[in-house]
Amino acid sequence: MGRGERRKCKCCRKLFRPDPRNRHHQYYCSAPSCRTASKAASQARWLAQPENRDYFRGPVHVARVQAWRLRHPGYWHKRRDVDPALQDVLTAQPIGSADKTADIASSALQETLVGATCCSDWLNRPFGGTVTR
Ligand SMILES: [Zn+2]
Repeated sequence: MGRGERRKCKCCRKLFRPDPRNRHHQYYCSAPSCRTASKAASQARWLAQPENRDYFRGPVHVARVQAWRLRHPGYWHKRRDVDPALQDVLTAQPIGSADKTADIASSALQETLVGATCCSDWLNRPFGGTVTR
């Protein structure tokens, strides 16, 4: 099979281009339903092999899991807090030293900061509202 050749998906029967790295064993397209079908077929093939039938089964593994559960009580009931993705946490920080602020205020060509006590205070004001000349 050539590099760019298309193949018929075993699930939806539509033509697709297999990933070049997996073309020797990719028989399903990337549609979510076809990926689910591919995973189910793969798992069924794996379970059909006699050496895998008792994989992680039996009294030894039951005892292992029970011991783990005793060491981790309430693990399955833990609710994890969802962090807001892509959201920075802003913490209020005081402005450095007062004498530096006074130096800036005395300069004629420098903008004056008035009443800004922390970053969040600064950010919450309308654009240009915190700076006076
Ligand atoms: Zn498909």
